[in-house]
Amino acid sequence: MRRRAFFVVGLPVLLVMAQAWAASDVRGVRLWRAPDNTRLVFDLSGPVQHNVFTLAAPDRIVIDVSNAALKTSIEQLPLKNTPITGMRAAQRTADELRLVIDLSAEVTPKSFTLDPNQEYGHRLVVDLFDKGSDVDTPSVPATVTPSVPAAPVAPTLPATKRPTSPSARRDIVIAIDAGHGGEDPGALGPGNAREKDVVLAIAKRLQTQINAEKGYRAELTRTGDYFIPLRKRTEIARKKGADLFVSIHADAAPRSVAYGASVYALSDRGATSETARWLADTENQSDLIGGVGNVSLDDKDRMLAGVLLDLSMTATLSSSLDVGQRVLRNMGRIAPLHKDRVEQAGFMVLKSPDIPSILVETGFISNPGEANKLRSANHQQALARSIHTGIRQFFQQSPPPGTYIAWLRDSGKVSIGMREHTVRSGESLALIAQRYQVTLDSLRRANKLDSNIIKIGQTLTIPASTLASQQ
Ligand SMILES: [Zn+2]
Repeated sequence: MRRRAFFVVGLPVLLVMAQAWAASDVRGVRLWRAPDNTRLVFDLSGPVQHNVFTLAAPDRIVIDVSNAALKTSIEQLPLKNTPITGMRAAQRTADELRLVIDLSAEVTPKSFTLDPNQEYGHRLVVDLFDKGSDVDTPSVPATVTPSVPAAPVAPTLPATKRPTSPSARRDIVIAIDAGHGGEDPGALGPGNAREKDVVLAIAKRLQTQINAEKGYRAELTRTGDYFIPLRKRTEIARKKGADLFVSIHADAAPRSVAYGASVYALSDRGATSETARWLADTENQSDLIGGVGNVSLDDKDRMLAGVLLDLSMTATLSSSLDVGQRVLRNMGRIAPLHKDRVEQAGFMVLKSPDIPSILVETGFISNPGEANKLRSANHQQALARSIHTGIRQFFQQSPPPGTYIAWLRDSGKVSIGMREHTVRSGESLALIAQRYQVTLDSLRRANKLDSNIIKIGQTLTIPASTLASQQ
């Protein structure tokens, strides 16, 4: 309001003075701990200028914020498991705020400001990367110059392709990517439903289910409530040697009546539908929170995508469509579908040239009914199970060479539907039967069991599925 008055006067000199007077308040501080960094988010009443530098012996980070005053307590932050031992603030002048962060270990700081979004106002973000984390070789293309396409492409080519395991029967590795996290809540629904929470819960359930099956291993790109840039997600998948990348999301639509699950694969040119295009834009926006600032991501991505697609995308894409269709079909048994075929759109997380990748939208969190279901443990479990079944069907059909599942198939066990399961803590025979969609009776028979008593670590033979066809 005050500033508008000066606009009326219209004198540039007065405008500058107005800027100087319009000090911003630091209204809150939030902290997120990720595996290799600590993120501090300062909530502001308006934009600020800032400067961050490090001091050694003892290790400290100094954040100078001009035009700002501290209007919140900084004492109650959850510092456990972080390198931060304390934080102090001093008002150096009326509008010069200095924050000092005491550290127990050396860190590399990275900072940037963010404009307001649907949930938060102006923010100053300070990321403190642990020593030894790969902040110096960021996966975010923030340091990539558009004129040098070779730079970002080279490390993703076969040089770093997953190593051929010396063991002839390695596990098939599934990277499960829970969308959003930390500062980025994803889509918001009624009753405080947040996409980032729902999808992490589903991702963890899916991981548990996959890990219970011999021959498979599931790795999460995100294990808690913190932010990971989109590029970093695919990079984590590659480092874990993933054979498949599954990104889990929940939709939002301007109309709250929109409902149903969908599965996406990457499109090389253009999205298959307007919805797909809109959604890809929304999901990709997530990366702005990675602090790429005014670097134009779009141009780089278009160009990068073009280069990568030419190289090895075609084969990968057909696998993505195949596994996507199977996942979609299984999801259709437990939830309504938004579209009954795999859609294609330019999601950034799907742009791995060598790893089949799908993005699963588990339902519309903007729809009150679906938001409720998405938050229920039963539905999350059912969704995870249907995604798992689709993945299993795909890999039984086309197991990567050198894997246990390939060996199973080649030794003829799969043709008669045989699988193995190692009993884990908390599992009952009935639960295992349900998970593999076989009857309790057939499971007992296949293992010559007189009772339902099983032991942790016991290996069970799973007979051919008998229930799937009855659904
Ligand atoms: Zn999402």
